[in-house]
Amino acid sequence: MSTMFTEHSKIHPVPERLLHAKKVAPKPHIDSFEAYQKMYKKSITDPEAFWGKSARELLHWHKPFETVVSGGFDYGDIAWFPEGELNASYNCVDRHALANPDKVAIIYEGNEPGNNRTITYGELLRDVSRLANALKSYGLRKGDTVAIYMPMVPEAIIAFLACARLGVVHSVVFAGFSAEALRDRIQDASSKLVITADEGRRGEKTIRIKKIVDEALKECPTVEHVLVYKRTGSDVPFKAPRDLWWHDEIEKHRPYCPPEIINSEDALFLLYTSGSTGKPKGILHTIAGYLLGAMITFKYVFDYHEGDVFGCMADIGWITGHTYIVYGPLCFGGTTVVFESTPIYPTPSRYWEVVAKHKITQFYTAPTAIRLLRRLGRHHVEGYDLSSLRVIGSVGEPINPEAWEWYNEVVGKGNCAVVDTYWQTETGSIVISPLPGAIPTKPGSATVPFFGVDPVILDPVTGEELHGNGVEGVLAFKQPWPSMAKTVYNNHHRYLDTYLKPYKGYYFTGDGVSRDGDGYYWILGRVDDVINASGHRLSTAEIESALVAHDGVAEAAVIGVAHDITGQEVHAFVTLKPRGESTEIKELILQVQKGIGTFAAPKKIYIVPDLPKTRSGKIMRRVLRKVVAGESDQLGDLSTLSDPSIISTLLDKVNE
Ligand code: ATP
Ligand code: MG
Repeated sequence: MSTMFTEHSKIHPVPERLLHAKKVAPKPHIDSFEAYQKMYKKSITDPEAFWGKSARELLHWHKPFETVVSGGFDYGDIAWFPEGELNASYNCVDRHALANPDKVAIIYEGNEPGNNRTITYGELLRDVSRLANALKSYGLRKGDTVAIYMPMVPEAIIAFLACARLGVVHSVVFAGFSAEALRDRIQDASSKLVITADEGRRGEKTIRIKKIVDEALKECPTVEHVLVYKRTGSDVPFKAPRDLWWHDEIEKHRPYCPPEIINSEDALFLLYTSGSTGKPKGILHTIAGYLLGAMITFKYVFDYHEGDVFGCMADIGWITGHTYIVYGPLCFGGTTVVFESTPIYPTPSRYWEVVAKHKITQFYTAPTAIRLLRRLGRHHVEGYDLSSLRVIGSVGEPINPEAWEWYNEVVGKGNCAVVDTYWQTETGSIVISPLPGAIPTKPGSATVPFFGVDPVILDPVTGEELHGNGVEGVLAFKQPWPSMAKTVYNNHHRYLDTYLKPYKGYYFTGDGVSRDGDGYYWILGRVDDVINASGHRLSTAEIESALVAHDGVAEAAVIGVAHDITGQEVHAFVTLKPRGESTEIKELILQVQKGIGTFAAPKKIYIVPDLPKTRSGKIMRRVLRKVVAGESDQLGDLSTLSDPSIISTLLDKVNE
């Protein structure tokens, strides 16, 4: 691939405000590149010492562990802290409720501005306990699974923690999924209970959650009860004795429930991946390693300090919500924001209103939202006091340098650390990212590995490790890290086949990557999406970023299409900004020729109103490939596609 990214990228030093931190902001935990390197080196050369010490410092153990890690990649039998016993809910709630009961744990920002509520750690302990006692009364025990299909309300977090208190495994399903998708996930996990709500509100929309659950449950014989939280109070179908009202139930129970003491390697939750590349995988995470990963990355990547207010805009239905709305912040006794609305409701200033109102210190969102807000214009950001922000983060897809710069300038005012965090449902927590106060950034690069993460670049064909800088290939990890997933639920074969067998001795991420002259990592896109044209391996991220660098372009997705002579040719789908409507295709082709080279220029560009995305906001290139190939009858698993009506629009465009 070319070196467009790396050569053209501007290095952003650590912002002044973080360097001179003592005056205006807390001193960063890691405050120089050298300090990062030193600690990183220790974490890699002696992982047992590093993780053993971290686990003792950060987690509360009911029974200490003796072994730090056992097993390995060959059988996928890795176990962290195997003799240890602990409870995730105790770690997230009790220890803070005992020390500091009046501290705010959760700030709820409802769909309608002005609909706010806070929950202290003392209240959280009582609420979680009541619900846990209710769950116990239904006969739920350690190892059972519960589906959580809830809108973004604090009760969703209470549900996570009540399950964790009993060792009940939660399987959260994003409350925008259809009845079929919910049914499949309930069936796959054999869930005994569904925790849900009457309805949800997101922007202008009302989501008839309970009706969807009823539809799904027509084919879910394992479900004994449905616990329904009243979010809107609308009349909804209710089927006694199966259905139970949350409010009635929790009143029956005592506000203290002793936590079950559970082994480190028992399951904490299972969660299905976003489904960008195919049928979602039911990823299983276990207690101790996952919590440790959540906590330590929360501390260092977001530079968390006591008193901070953490604003992660993801939904709890995704791994980002699990790790950085729930487990990371609460394990630290921090304050976390539960945001129910959308970035554009009631206006495209909503995020900034929320940041100013709650004095959010760390703000975390996805490239799809950043590109949307950039498309709508910077005037929506102006006039809000964003001076509380120190760290602004991005996750989910490669962030195009143009969008990065916009985020940095318009939101961060050039005065915040921008952290482009690379990770996966399977990694449990961030694995490649800058650390505020320590790592100079380059727009488009996730920069350097987190402590204990040992990335390698493999030749995709031979599987050989490519050493040194200036190389590219597939991204893999050489050592286990505590928050890595332990299996695919009830399908250990699929786990081995997907992650551990493709390159023996390594964990395979499925993503392409390059390492530049400074040793920084650049995620180039999914291996499944790589384009091979006339012998050039082309990165989707790189070509898309060249297109987004055009002033008129809002978003871009590129794919490889079979070609007799060149193997594949590049086709691009582009959405325009409102003021970019007159953009001509010629200009866009030129843009790629200039930015990367003629060999990467798209042979066809379709201007479309929107791109196909997963419900978590990621571009689904596999759908575009099928549409262009005329195989729209073989689109594969579409349960994760957010707006199925997009397909006919795309087909019309392609067949024009
Ligand atoms: P599926 O595995 O079902 O196809 P998915 O991979 O989209 O879905 P997630 O676990 O939600 O499911 O997403 C992880 C993937 O998201 C990574 O493998 C990577 O491709 C992409 N990703 C996440 N963060 C970043 C980032 N900062 N930069 C580049 N890519 C990222
Ligand atoms: Mg994936």
